[in-house]
Amino acid sequence: MLIYGSKATQIASKSLSDKCTNCGAENSVQMAVFQKYAHVFWIPFFPIGKTGVTQCAHCKQVLEKKEFSSSLLSTYETLISDSKTPRWTFSGLAVLTLLIILVSISNAQNDKKNAQLILAPKKGDIYEIRNDYEHYTLYKIDRVAGDTVFILMNEYESNKVTGLNTLKGKGDAAFVDTPIPLFKSDLKSMFDAGKIMNIDRKQ
Ligand SMILES: [Zn+2]
Repeated sequence: MLIYGSKATQIASKSLSDKCTNCGAENSVQMAVFQKYAHVFWIPFFPIGKTGVTQCAHCKQVLEKKEFSSSLLSTYETLISDSKTPRWTFSGLAVLTLLIILVSISNAQNDKKNAQLILAPKKGDIYEIRNDYEHYTLYKIDRVAGDTVFILMNEYESNKVTGLNTLKGKGDAAFVDTPIPLFKSDLKSMFDAGKIMNIDRKQ
């Protein structure tokens, strides 16, 4: 369950010289300005605007921004132009941006690694395969002889890419014993067509 919503934090306040419109008391009205922000699981994500209220210390009358007189509104405008949006209200957005950058760096490194491994298949390599009808399975390199690569196909396939982890968990016994010969160039074509999605090589 995703828990999200908005919260507010006070960023400015000011004692006003305006008389209270309710009880007439002088120097008893205080204005507070709030920064609203969106949160996800109580982590501030991004700011979503400001608002303000006044309260009279004498009669306790509270006025919201929409009830402000033009005098109160101009005080409010001055207060918000002097108060900065706290940087921490961007926390979630900053973390998310950083994560996206890290994931794309990691993906780029993995793509580079795969592009090298496909050119020199090695016994024991496990290929993650997407076949023509969008099912997923594994190939294992049995041996390499010149330009020919003998592969063992996995007995199982999955209709979900995440199912590949389950297939890997089945171990060596799940590969069919009969090796099938393919040219290195065939594997390269499959890789270029996106049918070989990833290559695992034990170091
Ligand atoms: Zn009052």
